[in-house]
Amino acid sequence: MSFRRVKTIGELLRHRCALQVICTFCENIRTLTYLELGRLPGQTPLEGLHRRFRCHRCGFKQARTKLLLPISGQEPFRLP
Ligand SMILES: [Zn+2]
Repeated sequence: MSFRRVKTIGELLRHRCALQVICTFCENIRTLTYLELGRLPGQTPLEGLHRRFRCHRCGFKQARTKLLLPISGQEPFRLP
């Protein structure tokens, strides 16, 4: 499958992807769980979703989101 086709929350959940939200100010990273994403309407577009988040650490209201591949497709962890 192509991850470019994942455009909404519903598709994201169906493909078992996860969503990471990264604060553009302090680099605070938070991965949203299925439960949290499931609270949003399935047709919510991923584009523009980053505008809804406010950083808990610094209060900055500008985040970027990153689509994470399903666990099976993830590359193994590597220490620097
Ligand atoms: Zn922040």
